[in-house]
Amino acid sequence: MHHIDIELIEMTLDVMKYVIGRVSATEHQIGKPRKAEELKAAVGETVTAKGVGGEYAFNLWKAHLANTNVPVDHPRNLAFVPASPTKAAIMFDLITSASSIHGAYWMEGAGGIFCENEAMKWIISLTGLPEGAFGVFTSGGTAANLSAIVTAREHWRENPKYKREKGLIITSMGAHSSIKAMAKVADVDIVLVDSEEHLTGEALQETILSLSEHQRKCLFAVVATGGTTNAGIIDDLQSVAKICAEEQLWFHVDAAYGGGALVADSVRHLFNGIEKADSITIDPHKWMFSPYDCGAVIYKNMELAKNAHSQQGSYLEIFKDEGAHGFNPTDYQIQLTRRVRGLPLWFSLATHGTDRYKEAVERGLELAQIAGRMIEEHPDLELVREPSLSCVLYRRKGWAPEDYTHWTYENHQKGFALVTPTKWKNGDTYETCSRFCFINPDTTERDIEMILESMV
Ligand SMILES: *Cc1c(COP(=O)(O)O)cnc(C)c1O
Repeated sequence: MHHIDIELIEMTLDVMKYVIGRVSATEHQIGKPRKAEELKAAVGETVTAKGVGGEYAFNLWKAHLANTNVPVDHPRNLAFVPASPTKAAIMFDLITSASSIHGAYWMEGAGGIFCENEAMKWIISLTGLPEGAFGVFTSGGTAANLSAIVTAREHWRENPKYKREKGLIITSMGAHSSIKAMAKVADVDIVLVDSEEHLTGEALQETILSLSEHQRKCLFAVVATGGTTNAGIIDDLQSVAKICAEEQLWFHVDAAYGGGALVADSVRHLFNGIEKADSITIDPHKWMFSPYDCGAVIYKNMELAKNAHSQQGSYLEIFKDEGAHGFNPTDYQIQLTRRVRGLPLWFSLATHGTDRYKEAVERGLELAQIAGRMIEEHPDLELVREPSLSCVLYRRKGWAPEDYTHWTYENHQKGFALVTPTKWKNGDTYETCSRFCFINPDTTERDIEMILESMV
């Protein structure tokens, strides 16, 4: 018989109370960061030989620490790529933690991995990839991009001609910083197509023709973007796919941010050509309303990913025995031990149905159009370019770069909004401007109006 642990029950109730308060609150403050020294002065020593006790530590969190974070799901947090995890997904994230599932191998995580795969099937169906394509959930877009680049490179190097060569990839200036960072990790060179507007097959072809003979020999992959992080621009995937096929190059589509919009009928056609990809990155923690962290890497040919990523070790042999037959997520990306981070997404999809996802994404797209119209009608504001997906780049006439920075800080300090500036390449110069990215369907037109009003 277990004895009843009163302290554990109290702690559980405290935690649940906090969670209920957090997910049901309608008005949050946008927290603001404080210096580490200030936080230290406020909380004192917490990691000690005897411990300070759960209740005490939790109270410190509530009093001094929680409010120094900026919640990504605040309706007026329109900076970077915000997020808006569903309550169902957040609740099942708690269950994911409480279940202690090792999500690397089917042998240990069958039920969790089964659910992840049900969610993955839906994601695959949005891409239009052929039969046999599948994917796994990763810690994010960065890990997904790395897993895909490594798979592509290992496949290329199967040819003895390239065994000792350092590979080269082509991407566009609009590609996410993680592409460059991950090319460094994989020790791969990069050539950038010099335009932040959408990459076309023609521009890709020109870039390939401009390569030296050795560079052309080492070129093995092209990374197109399905919704640039800065401006929501979708490359011309159709024509890029065609060149990749002609030149026998791996075609990766980084749709970490934009991938969620595959579900939206109003913009789905903009992604045509994505069904020809060899690999795709999509972040459910961006526009699929999952809590952090949850990315996904998808492959047309799973065997190639397995060849690149499957880990060998005498201590791992057992996982491959008869009783453990099933899908092993570790074989297709860089991690071994992993959280079944697709599980909260599965529960949320099962709870709400995919139509709700469609509606929520369409709302984000609509908010960008609404913001665009408000900006056009405003005498002091101008669009830098037409809204694309849910990104809106706009300028306040007469403002210098430091005005944008000052305005951002001021709104953040007040706990009112977080809207950050960005840069847009205008001819040969970079213009500083303001940027919205809409994800949260609970952002209102009034929110946008108030933010724009604060610029005059
Ligand atoms: C956000 C983003 C990434 C990086 O994803 P993380 O989940 O932050 O690792 C990569 N590519 C694009 C296009 C992104 O928007």
